[in-house]
Amino acid sequence: MKIVALRVRRVEGTLTTDGPFWEERLCRPVDVYPEFRDRGTFEGRVDEGGIQLDERRLRIAAYFVIVETDEGVWGHAGPFREPCARYVVTALRPLLVGRDPLASEQLWDLMHRTLVHGRQGEAMFAVSVVDCALWDLKGRWLGQPVWRLLGGPTRPATPAYASMLGFDVLDPGRVAERALAFKERGFRAQKWFFRHGPASGPEGLAKNVELVRTLRRTLGDDYAIMLDCWQSFDYPYLLALAERIEDYRPTWIEEPAMPDRIATYRKIKERVRIPIAGAEHDYTRWGMLRFLEKDALDIYQPDPFWCGGLSETLKIAALTSAHDVICIPHGHSTPVNTTFSVLQSPMLTPWQEYLVKWNEIHLFWFRDPPVPIDGTIAADPRAGLFPELDEGRIELSEDL
Ligand SMILES: [Mg+2]
Repeated sequence: MKIVALRVRRVEGTLTTDGPFWEERLCRPVDVYPEFRDRGTFEGRVDEGGIQLDERRLRIAAYFVIVETDEGVWGHAGPFREPCARYVVTALRPLLVGRDPLASEQLWDLMHRTLVHGRQGEAMFAVSVVDCALWDLKGRWLGQPVWRLLGGPTRPATPAYASMLGFDVLDPGRVAERALAFKERGFRAQKWFFRHGPASGPEGLAKNVELVRTLRRTLGDDYAIMLDCWQSFDYPYLLALAERIEDYRPTWIEEPAMPDRIATYRKIKERVRIPIAGAEHDYTRWGMLRFLEKDALDIYQPDPFWCGGLSETLKIAALTSAHDVICIPHGHSTPVNTTFSVLQSPMLTPWQEYLVKWNEIHLFWFRDPPVPIDGTIAADPRAGLFPELDEGRIELSEDL
């Protein structure tokens, strides 16, 4: 079998919303500058968070890669953004056309050795989505779900934690209302995102603490609460915050600093009693190894759509299991993460992330995608890695 085309398809559609879709954003590293700190939710790219047309309509766009073969078998992966699409078209298409799509280990090695300046970031996103499309193709070719090809399932479904990015975090009344609603939907864990960082001073710190207090009071003593700093804090600020929220017993605190500051992670892990999660913004087994060698994290969060694909995430899982730490992939792609999670021991991957709002956007394109039911996501029994697209939702389509 040979790859005859690596198509990239751009699609547009409209998500129906109940008022403005994004209510609040998370704290970002660039918020140390007032110019950025005061900006609202998302900057509004059609392929990144969408553009709110009016109270009821969010215009969204996405890119998908489709690997086509001379035997008529195909595989696809997505959604992803425009910069990644460019890498697929310019760097990977000329490299992969004419090659055996089933030899995915060799193709990964070829891509990695070719993109010597692309071992992280958008270029690695491109390697990731192509790797996932090759797995989808392999599953469709054999008529089996990919978790079956890889020796799963270890369990029929994985508990999902609701990741609450995009909801209001500043009004305690609204936080309590949402937290309770998702508990009632069957989620046994929730992750919330801080809006304030060091540059917001004591007032912002108090608001961050209030968020955690509200969550614990609302959700009760036995409920898992995770907290995400999205790389935006520093060592003193994290210590000050941890001191004030320790008694609320968070399950973990995530990405306290930018990922290159491994020494900071190490210091935080030594001083703070709350488990530390991170590394979603790092790439490949070698990126994760930097943290593992310094024992800098308790929970590793590689994203299969960013860190090198399903192939690379499985290698990272093997590395983390050898170090006896937890590995819970970041939740860009629910279809891939569902497959990954039912391949792992429940000790290594006790949860799967379910980004509530992002999934409304990312799963919009698929026909009958995997979703949480009563707080768990079941292994998808269909052949391949991704469901097919729901063509009825696509208002505009073009090939790159
Ligand atoms: Mg995160």
